[in-house]
Amino acid sequence: MALEEYKEKREFNKTPEPSGEPGEASLHRFVVQEHYASHHHFDFRLELPADFFSSDNPSGPAVLKSWAVPKGISDEKGVKRLAVQVEDHPVSYINFEGTIPEGQYGAGTVSIWDRGTFEVVHKKPNSLKFILHGNRLSGEFHLVKTKRGKGNDWLIFK
Ligand code: MN
Repeated sequence: MALEEYKEKREFNKTPEPSGEPGEASLHRFVVQEHYASHHHFDFRLELPADFFSSDNPSGPAVLKSWAVPKGISDEKGVKRLAVQVEDHPVSYINFEGTIPEGQYGAGTVSIWDRGTFEVVHKKPNSLKFILHGNRLSGEFHLVKTKRGKGNDWLIFK
């Protein structure tokens, strides 16, 4: 899906968010952004090739694969949290903090809650096992796609 959906949702003359293009090869960074929008939530983003989940041999330019996590990621083993996959974001979003104005998509304040690097341990089309090296989150985590919802619902847990 590259970044078409990301761009369609935003007016870059009105929001301070980056309008970036897909990046170079992934540096395997991650970020968790705390987002005080209409509903407070956390956004979890992994820097990965755009075709990461759809290809056996992903090689595309990097984007931020993104999930909205309403209750945030638990650092306690086995505590599962809903993570709704949302549109890919440009890699430059990894540094974004600021206020998205009223009337714009995602209006509210964004701040970085944690950041670091990750290693992929195991990937399937509907699941990902990875190790986070962050300040607040570290260790092995899983993302597993569920059959509930509209096909975008995953669970994330340590
Ligand atoms: Mn958000």
